[in-house]
Amino acid sequence: MIVMKFGGSSVESAVAIERVAGLVRRELARHPLVVVSAMGQTTRQLLAMGEDAAKGAREQALKKLQALREMYEREIGALLPETSQADLRRILDCHFREAGDLLEQLEEVGEFSPASADALASYGERLSSQLIAMVFSNLGVDAAHVDARCVVLTDTRHQAATPLYEQTYARIRDKILPIIRENKVPVLGGFIGATQEGATTTLGRGGSDFSAAIFGAGISAEEIQIWTDVDGVMTCDPKLVADAHRVKTLSFAEAAELAYFGAKVLHPSTLLPAIEKNIPILVLNSRRPEVPGTHIVAEAPPSGNVIKAISCKRGIYIVNIRSTRMLMAHGFLQRIFEIFSRAETAVDMLASSEVSVSLTIDNPARLSGICEALREFSEVSVEENQAIVCIVGDNLRHTPGVAARAFGALQEVNIRMISQGASLLNIGFAVSERDAETTVELLHREFFSSVDPLVFD
Ligand code: ADP
Ligand code: ASP
Ligand code: MG
Repeated sequence: MIVMKFGGSSVESAVAIERVAGLVRRELARHPLVVVSAMGQTTRQLLAMGEDAAKGAREQALKKLQALREMYEREIGALLPETSQADLRRILDCHFREAGDLLEQLEEVGEFSPASADALASYGERLSSQLIAMVFSNLGVDAAHVDARCVVLTDTRHQAATPLYEQTYARIRDKILPIIRENKVPVLGGFIGATQEGATTTLGRGGSDFSAAIFGAGISAEEIQIWTDVDGVMTCDPKLVADAHRVKTLSFAEAAELAYFGAKVLHPSTLLPAIEKNIPILVLNSRRPEVPGTHIVAEAPPSGNVIKAISCKRGIYIVNIRSTRMLMAHGFLQRIFEIFSRAETAVDMLASSEVSVSLTIDNPARLSGICEALREFSEVSVEENQAIVCIVGDNLRHTPGVAARAFGALQEVNIRMISQGASLLNIGFAVSERDAETTVELLHREFFSSVDPLVFD
């Protein structure tokens, strides 16, 4: 059994979905389970409509919803025979009526809560999974749609829910394995789940990769394929550096660091279930399936380059904390961490001196409360619009002098913080968002001017 996950751009149109059906047909002998994202930009559009409606611009939101419906009717309609068009309209009527009702409620309440955001965003994956299962049957793939909310049980943390693994795996075994045994292809939406009480949740933006890994672990798949719009995991985001190279193989640990520090090609939590069950992940381009992609496995083969890739994460806040006593008071760090932990705010990078600590966070939701608590025993300043650029690779562990090389390459950039991750697989640089692109370019030039052909393409 394998999992095949197709991201938004891989299912954005009739042509794209037809291509996907072809890719699934080729793998039928390996018993695929298919995970799909919402078509194209649906999630972003739905969330924008929710914002509009809560601000009182309901008419504008409903107009955008209507345009979205027309896109579905056109693209999916093109893949269905005349006899199925009425069914298609019925499914669209039902989903879009509910989504429209939700927008009207948002206008009445005047607030777009995380729970409403999840409810609204879920229509993207609910529609794509149901409709793609429907067209698959017409394109030679005997498919069965399963609502992922009946399978992925999560905690109640809206917009960043965590699955309750054991219950979820039990449901996968009960509800999905029998479908695969009947030689049918289960099709599920990624990204979405539900709480024990039945409230719709999501795993966070980009969460379909995570869903794919959860389903993969649940069926003990031999492989998890992540089909996207690039040739694999590249030496950096190809949107930033045009001559980025494909990385042929990465270790689980390397991929986890890259994903955590901003390589959007994989959701940060994707690696957890795969590592637990030791399932290789393959990142592939649905538009160029002949390219062998990136293999992510427990142990990567040795590489002649000191790093494998560079990640970049924007929207970072640096919090500078200075003890108001002259010397580092006993328990200073402990008090700081307690405050961040109580606020459920993860700290990504940390640098400390005798009397001060600088750290970075990417989620400012609780920042004002955090600062208030910190000010009881320290001076605090916050810098917005920062970025973390990370160099990542197993070889960093035993290659001296890499930080010096990076500093040399970054002479013209004002580096705000530097830190080596506890895993020893990465070195992170905090820079102003303005300098992020230059930082990536300079590091890419320094570390990838020549590449080991066994590891990079
Ligand atoms: P999907 O909709 O298929 O999930 P995403 O947009 O979420 O696709 O992720 C793919 C994008 O990730 C690419 O288009 C690319 O711009 C971005 N990306 C960032 N870092 C990397 C990297 N190191 N390698 C490949 N792609 C990357
Ligand atoms: N559709 C969701 C998003 O855009 C999930 C995903 O694509 O992975 O965030
Ligand atoms: Mg994605």
